[in-house]
Amino acid sequence: MSNIFDAISALRLEQGRRLVGTLSPAVQQLVARCGRHDSSGSAPHLVADTLLVADDLVDNHGPGRQAYITGCEVDDAVRDLLRRPLLSALAEVGAAAAARCRHCQPRQPLRLVTSNRSGSSAEGLDDLIIGKDSTSDFDIMLEFDGPFRWATPGAEKPADIEPRCAPQLWARPTDNAGFVTLHWVRTDRCGHEEPLEALPADSVRRLMHDFCRVRMDGEITPTGPAVNVKDPDDNDGGIDFVFCLLVRGWWPAPVWPDGAPWDTSFGVHLVPTGRPGSKTEFIEYRISLSRAELLAVRQLCPGLRAAVTALKAIKNMLKESGVAIGDLKSYFMKTAALWLAQETPGGPRTGVTDGVHRLLDWLERRLDEEWLPCFFYPAINVAAELTADQRQAIIGSLRLVREHLTPLLMACCEKQWSLNTLLEGRPTEPLSERQLRLRLGRTLLRQAVLDGIQAPPHGSLLGELVE
Ligand SMILES: [Zn+2]
Ligand SMILES: [Zn+2]
Repeated sequence: MSNIFDAISALRLEQGRRLVGTLSPAVQQLVARCGRHDSSGSAPHLVADTLLVADDLVDNHGPGRQAYITGCEVDDAVRDLLRRPLLSALAEVGAAAAARCRHCQPRQPLRLVTSNRSGSSAEGLDDLIIGKDSTSDFDIMLEFDGPFRWATPGAEKPADIEPRCAPQLWARPTDNAGFVTLHWVRTDRCGHEEPLEALPADSVRRLMHDFCRVRMDGEITPTGPAVNVKDPDDNDGGIDFVFCLLVRGWWPAPVWPDGAPWDTSFGVHLVPTGRPGSKTEFIEYRISLSRAELLAVRQLCPGLRAAVTALKAIKNMLKESGVAIGDLKSYFMKTAALWLAQETPGGPRTGVTDGVHRLLDWLERRLDEEWLPCFFYPAINVAAELTADQRQAIIGSLRLVREHLTPLLMACCEKQWSLNTLLEGRPTEPLSERQLRLRLGRTLLRQAVLDGIQAPPHGSLLGELVE
């Protein structure tokens, strides 16, 4: 047994060496000069705690980001006017193919109501890297509605209704928490015994796929509930178009002991994707809480939000250096951050380094327990689809990150900031905590002056000079 442990620790040592070897000479020098916190009186964590929080405070301003997204959505709304006839035509073909009963099914097809941005880019949790494209994708939720009402969702089959009350949609939970199938509630005139399947997920995914194929250039790939459209020349994750239905007023999770963390009367979205291996996989919908998550992430303190983006950037470094093992999904990190925000009072003073440590600890503990509870619906295990091997691989990656966190966080800083001021003087001269604090202050000041010249509140001075 000890041989296996020896082999594992030897492997991790080797991976760590390879990982640190890929970091730039500037980062290596800074790590060496800052030393370890306990031995030399220096405090290397100050670098990330200062620079990465500054990034979040300046660039990730909640109302500013909301204004930007609202601008995008207004733009989308105008474009939607052009998309709408095409979508209606495609939906009509689908509806005609599915028509089986004139009593319980609607006569008009679905129509597009709104499109909203969601996911990491909208939340401000994208792994933006200056000089390179972000690898995060942009999610657009296309919300559809139709001439139907929602019956009370739940396991119990609704009683037959009169034809004048039809059509009504019923969301029936499956064996897997968070997944439902949709059915038209039977009327007392229906000739069939069981409620008919409604809007099967595979058919609406096909609708979105056809829609993207007609409208867009680029690679079109169905991924989960989304259809991803990606320009092959771009590094980023492309745009995910996600079909969704809003079940207004439905909140499937039990009520929280001290009040729900948000207005549950909004309801939840359903997105067309099934649990792999389930017997109704191809017609299932998954409950999506992305709207609630978008608002919740905005409430995180800057230190914790910066910790999530740093961990995403570190994950990319692991991938690039070839030592990444297992897929630590960004959804896991977001979930961890939302739970951690409940545990201790946050606030802008919570350090990024501390935040990343807490994220790593939480993720390792939960993966070890084989249950990563969804924040708004804890009965859902968001890591349910991982195998034991995949879980162990992710835990291995988390430990590797923890062991090399100082240089990795400094590498995150280097992607956004110049380290020149911090590295002034002889390359081997150690930096005391006091020196480091002074140099960090100068780095911030220098950047502020530069930003002030390049992007003053009223137009660009440099721009005018160039003109
Ligand atoms: Zn019927
Ligand atoms: Zn996406």
